[in-house]
Amino acid sequence: MPINIALDGPVGAGKSTIADEVAARLSILHLDTGAMYRACAIGVLRSGLDPQDEAAATACCEGLQIDVGYEKGTQQTLLCGEDVTGLLRTPQVSAAASAVAKWPGVRRKMVKAQQELARTHDMLIDGRDIGTRVLPDAKVKIYLTASAEERARRRWLQLQQQGQNVPMEEVLSDLLARDRQDMNRETDPLRVAEGATIIDSTDLTQEETVEKILAVVEACYGKRG
Ligand code: C5P
Repeated sequence: MPINIALDGPVGAGKSTIADEVAARLSILHLDTGAMYRACAIGVLRSGLDPQDEAAATACCEGLQIDVGYEKGTQQTLLCGEDVTGLLRTPQVSAAASAVAKWPGVRRKMVKAQQELARTHDMLIDGRDIGTRVLPDAKVKIYLTASAEERARRRWLQLQQQGQNVPMEEVLSDLLARDRQDMNRETDPLRVAEGATIIDSTDLTQEETVEKILAVVEACYGKRG
């Protein structure tokens, strides 16, 4: 049985960065499932379709080939063979990803692909429904969260570093809108999975958060790496 670690939490909780670090220390892969929904969103936007239109967005996503590969341990996300990794993190794609991720047909396809990857690789998988839907039997489940203000502050810093000058109020309101969409959708909403360890990173450094997750993994799988 491969090692599978499920990491869920709201936007801006630091999942991606933390997951990269934890996976590297454990010498396993990190699957960023948000990147897969983002690639779907790019496909829908490029087709000129409305991500809020269930029938159109679902039909479009069903026709898209979404793959992930790894280069020196870093995930590359491919949309119909094109590496779109560098295009995934714009506010427009974020909003469209959250919209297309509401649709059951889109989720069905993504969940299946993620389960297949987890079946064949040692992985830390981050997303919104990993402990509840993708890997309900995972031995390690973490729910990583932080206050909305702190999450917005981190997201704002990240955007600044990418040269995107978005006002803090806009970052906070986008984040709250995505929280609402992710937590209130009918199919696989963001929830704390049964048996998950909740880690609130509001007042923790990145290293402290990584250490807490590694301690949970160690308690389950023993010391690794
Ligand atoms: O994690 P990230 O912010 O990149 O995810 C983008 C969007 O994809 C989220 O806002 C969420 O709506 C959706 N998502 C999801 N289920 C996942 C991963 C991401 O619904 N497992």
